Amino acid sequence: MLTLALSKGRILEETLPTLQAIGLQPAGDIDRLLRVPSRHPEVQHLIIRPTDVPTYVEYGAADFGIVGKDILMEHGSGSLYEPLDLGIAQCRLMVAGLPGTKPLRHRRLRVATKYPEITRRYFAQQGKQVEIIKLYGSMELAPLVELADVIVDLVATGKTLKANGLVVLEHIADVSSRLVVNKAAMKTKHAALRYWLDRFREATETAHA
Ligand code: ATP
Ligand code: MG
Repeated sequence: MLTLALSKGRILEETLPTLQAIGLQPAGDIDRLLRVPSRHPEVQHLIIRPTDVPTYVEYGAADFGIVGKDILMEHGSGSLYEPLDLGIAQCRLMVAGLPGTKPLRHRRLRVATKYPEITRRYFAQQGKQVEIIKLYGSMELAPLVELADVIVDLVATGKTLKANGLVVLEHIADVSSRLVVNKAAMKTKHAALRYWLDRFREATETAHA
């Protein structure tokens, strides 16, 4: 039996056509159940929060998983294999703020984000120490009420930024969803994982052909 950890929400929705194409569609109520069988007798799914997927796969509670590159960057991906870019749930990780926001001379830049690790690393690479304010959602509000000078957040269309009078200031990374694999399982269940990795790769190539 193989266990695949799926990121609940937007990524799961964008993953369903691929699962369908390779015969792994969930066979159960994915809105309520946390563990559901798939159409294939040897694969089951876990339906979990995106931020928890790397943890389940790292500890081997799932053999493989599907998760956004943003979450992997924040978690640190050294403990997992990342063999395939699925090309879904594409967006960009950006620094955004009010137009004309400049580096501040007299105090550290305050950055609101749900990605403290990525943010710290990104600014450190530029030799900047920033004050990080961890938020869990609606980052766009922070600069408007002077909770922070800028935000680090995902941007897809830019509509939410625009609606709140914010602009993109810097580009940090392109984001899409990745297939990740537990390192030990890659050895002990190699043939089975190889088989499904090849199916995912074929389906991804077909979808982007
Ligand atoms: P959590 O429940 O852990 O807080 P969340 O509510 O942020 O997760 P989503 O907003 O569904 O979950 O985002 C999940 C993933 O989808 C992100 O990690 C990112 O990889 C991708 N994503 C987020 N926003 C977009 C977007 N606007 N367009 C495309 N992909 C996106
Ligand atoms: Mg969200």
